[in-house]
Amino acid sequence: MSPNRTPLSELATRWGDALDEELPAARELRRELHAAPCVSGQEHPARARLLAALDTSIPFEEIADAGAVGRVGPVDGPSIAVRAELDALPVTEQTGAPFAASDGAMHACGHDVHQAAVVALLRAAARVELPLGLVGLLQPREESYPSGALEMVEAGVIDRFGIAHVIGAHVHPGVRRGAVASGGGFINAAADEIEILVSGRGGHGAYPHDANDVVAAVAHIAIGIPEVVRRSVSPLRPALISIGTLTAGEGAANVLPAEARIFATMRTTDPEDRVTLFEAVREMAERTAQAYGTTAQVTRIDGEPALINDVSLASGTDDWLALLGVDGAEPLRSLGADDFSYFCDAVPSLMLFVGVETAGRDPQPALHHPRFLPDDDAVDLVARALMAGYLAAAERVLGIEHHRGDQGVLG
Ligand SMILES: [Zn+2]
Repeated sequence: MSPNRTPLSELATRWGDALDEELPAARELRRELHAAPCVSGQEHPARARLLAALDTSIPFEEIADAGAVGRVGPVDGPSIAVRAELDALPVTEQTGAPFAASDGAMHACGHDVHQAAVVALLRAAARVELPLGLVGLLQPREESYPSGALEMVEAGVIDRFGIAHVIGAHVHPGVRRGAVASGGGFINAAADEIEILVSGRGGHGAYPHDANDVVAAVAHIAIGIPEVVRRSVSPLRPALISIGTLTAGEGAANVLPAEARIFATMRTTDPEDRVTLFEAVREMAERTAQAYGTTAQVTRIDGEPALINDVSLASGTDDWLALLGVDGAEPLRSLGADDFSYFCDAVPSLMLFVGVETAGRDPQPALHHPRFLPDDDAVDLVARALMAGYLAAAERVLGIEHHRGDQGVLG
């Protein structure tokens, strides 16, 4: 061990060795979990299997209906948490893998890999002496509402377990295989929904002068929305509104409907834009409706906040990834959403993306695709990414000064 390495280097080596011993079982566990997917809200069997794999020496308690939380290492003082999502998707698997699911549900987002990695990491951690507690967050309902992450935060998990930072790692085919992307700042967008109801006086299509034209009003509102985005959010900050549903009328050609509806998703990356953009849309919709003699009722349905990675956790984790012999990658930012952002909102946290490939498939299937299937090595890489995050977070909590630079790779 060279003297310029951080005080946690020895721990990293011992923990990494313990992890190596856990990996064969973790890979098997991953296949077992993959074969038995549980969709959102029905993750109780997955939780039971994970708790059995974690063994009874690590005390876990149930939380957020189908979730669980437990702590390894020192029982008092601040801790660092790692998150694994428990849910699969209502997708019919087409991977052809010997351990493929066959019941119309599928781990098409790689959560089976995350679960096995967290089990391996916690089991390995129980065999070494950690300077700070390591909390496992087994989170239900990532893929649907109500958010499992929000429920865990609202249940007081952060305070009760003294969580100073949360680390998440998600497999992703958009990152080079074997590499891990971190990156401080915005990673995912806030995802809210906007509903616009336009109302007026319906009537006969041949007598438009005796009625209101809600179709014309809603059409102008729809094409006005991109202009509102362009005019109210700085072009240097990503934001968008996409209309997923636009309805008016009930099938007749000659009836002017009395109501029309727009249902859209609004994605923003800055908390202020989240407020000002919605207000600008509301104003435009109300005034446009008014210009057609109609009224617009505009509602915002709140979704996840933006996922903002802590800058110093990201750079510290990059250093630890290098020390653990894992390649870094460019940050993966998008206007997608992940409810991990509720943890980021509660404490400075970090979401990592782990590069995986589906063997022999070109182009690579995306997340949620029926052929998405990272290989077993992904379990190892996700576990090491989470370990790097823990080490960086622990350095920060313990006030260990970290010097960037070429420190070689831990043996
Ligand atoms: Zn996912």
